[in-house]
Amino acid sequence: ATPAATMVGTTIGAQNGVLFKGGDILERAKDVDTVVFDKTGTLTKGEMELTDVVVFDGDGRPLTDGGQLTARDSLDENDVLRLAATAESGSEHPLARAIVDGAKERGIDVSDPETFENVPGHGIKATVGDSEVLVGNRKLLRDNGIDPSPAQETMERLENEGKTAMLVARVPGGTDAGELVGVVADADTIKASAAEAVSQLRERGVDVMMITGDNERTARAVAEQVGIDPENVHAGVLPEDKSDAVEAIQDEGRKAMMVGDGVNDAPALAVAYVGTAIGSGTDVAIEAADVTLMRDDPLDVVKAIRISDATLQKIK
Ligand code: ADP
Ligand code: MG
Repeated sequence: ATPAATMVGTTIGAQNGVLFKGGDILERAKDVDTVVFDKTGTLTKGEMELTDVVVFDGDGRPLTDGGQLTARDSLDENDVLRLAATAESGSEHPLARAIVDGAKERGIDVSDPETFENVPGHGIKATVGDSEVLVGNRKLLRDNGIDPSPAQETMERLENEGKTAMLVARVPGGTDAGELVGVVADADTIKASAAEAVSQLRERGVDVMMITGDNERTARAVAEQVGIDPENVHAGVLPEDKSDAVEAIQDEGRKAMMVGDGVNDAPALAVAYVGTAIGSGTDVAIEAADVTLMRDDPLDVVKAIRISDATLQKIK
């Protein structure tokens, strides 16, 4: 494109909240044949809310069903939530914030853990009182010698609803006998225009994919709601592996636009043919990106491609 055309396109972009980081990016966007969306904070609002607390007994049987306490002993829902929230108050993760806020809203006193450790992509470990508390996914428990399988049915039920379900386990002080004590779940809200954006991209012949650290079942439930094919969902991808996943997609000869919002996404944005940071994105993501969408609207992804298309068609 001529410098004049580039300037027109860049200006139209800016007026629409679509910031291209230079003329070459403006030219490239029209050639994108695959859009890879991050899930949390990109297709969803990333505003998690605590929705479920399920208690398990010492043998790993659920004691509650749909909020109804059905049995006997030691821990109740509030105890499980207090343990989880206290452990998570060391974390800035949106999943953790939702657990802490949810506990406080339910009138639970949340204190700080004695020690805290992040296990990226899997969860957290903390010391609460004289116990070690683990909150996270199946792998976190397995890696710590605790069997998550008694909670499988509960986990699947919550995940099929598109929720992120997290196991809560406790290792009483002075022992190495870890026990599964419960499951907590957070739900996120899908952005209003996410399905429309996916549909408009597909109409243009662009393949739409999703990449997430979240588990397969939750990811597929969200994908289904926005119209992304199950085989285009890459779930359980660790933060440091997101860029490898984008590279693998591009190694198939695709020109991929990666759309993300988080610190986690920066390396993937950097390797993508076009990296796009959306809305409330972190500074790190914006820095790594080629295109910044000022609004939080997935439809602006389509707009970015359209502006590139229109600019280069009109003025050749
Ligand atoms: P995303 O890509 O969706 O931002 P992450 O890579 O941060 O997800 O986390 C992947 C998975 O690890 C989560 O779905 C959750 O099961 C678990 N996890 C991560 N952080 C936490 C946390 N603070 N508490 C509990 N579970 C967590
Ligand atoms: Mg994210």
